Amino acid sequence: MKEDTEISFDPSWQYGEFSKINSGTAKLYYSHALEPKDITVCINAGHGTQGGSSVKTQCHPDGTPKVTGGSTAAGETHAYAVSTGMDFADGTPEREGTLALALVVKEKLLDAGYNVLMIRETDDVQLDNIARTLMANAYADCHIALHYDSTSSDKGAYFMSVPNVSSYRAMEPVASHWEEHNRLGFSVIEGLRSADIKVMGDGSAETDLTQTSYSTVPSIDLEVGDKVSDRSPETLNALADGIAAGLDIFFEQDSSENANDPAGKAPASEEESSDHSEETPAFSDGEKTGPAE
Ligand SMILES: [Zn+2]
Repeated sequence: MKEDTEISFDPSWQYGEFSKINSGTAKLYYSHALEPKDITVCINAGHGTQGGSSVKTQCHPDGTPKVTGGSTAAGETHAYAVSTGMDFADGTPEREGTLALALVVKEKLLDAGYNVLMIRETDDVQLDNIARTLMANAYADCHIALHYDSTSSDKGAYFMSVPNVSSYRAMEPVASHWEEHNRLGFSVIEGLRSADIKVMGDGSAETDLTQTSYSTVPSIDLEVGDKVSDRSPETLNALADGIAAGLDIFFEQDSSENANDPAGKAPASEEESSDHSEETPAFSDGEKTGPAE
């Protein structure tokens, strides 16, 4: 049986030079389920890096400015290495809420046969958003960052989809991975719906994130609720059920795709690519989305 492993940042990783805070460690847990899946999911409890908002990192590896606004305005080239996050209506800092959920998700996924890379299991980890992302790239098959949004309307869960901006979708590593980011997102949203979690609109909002800009594995920021959403143990459990169901949907599609294509990922034909971009839903909810990073 494989031993759980402490994971350190390796500055020689691709894009390693862009991380500014990386002295902390993550931990890789192996599933002890009877039928382990040999799939590793990075669970990234959003925020929780002391000093993270006094350091800035480059939004895009090529130095171009952000194409959408959020906690960092469109046009900025640098963003907080890790922002502080919001406070819930009851005064709890977001980092505590995301951690509480992450710990429930961890157990649920391990029971379901997934290995789990936990970015953070305490109040503070010295890993910025780029370091977290590169750890997921190196050790995980997908990356889910957990957040609560800064609105106060209990508007429902959604993921931050890849902006439909041609320059952004043409930039590596986004160009090679944006479709799988969005497919992971919609799979997780489908899973959340199956667990009776309220979803905002079609479950997506286009946002240019540092995380997405450096991800080479399927990767999403998931906003599971907002400042006033219920955080009872029952709701955390339902969210974890939904995330696990969504991962099953995502990886089952993945393996059936691979079965049709034994050599791996087939290059999309021109026809297929244009189909995909038409499928990409435009975000038109009109409600302001809050900071994610
Ligand atoms: Zn957040």
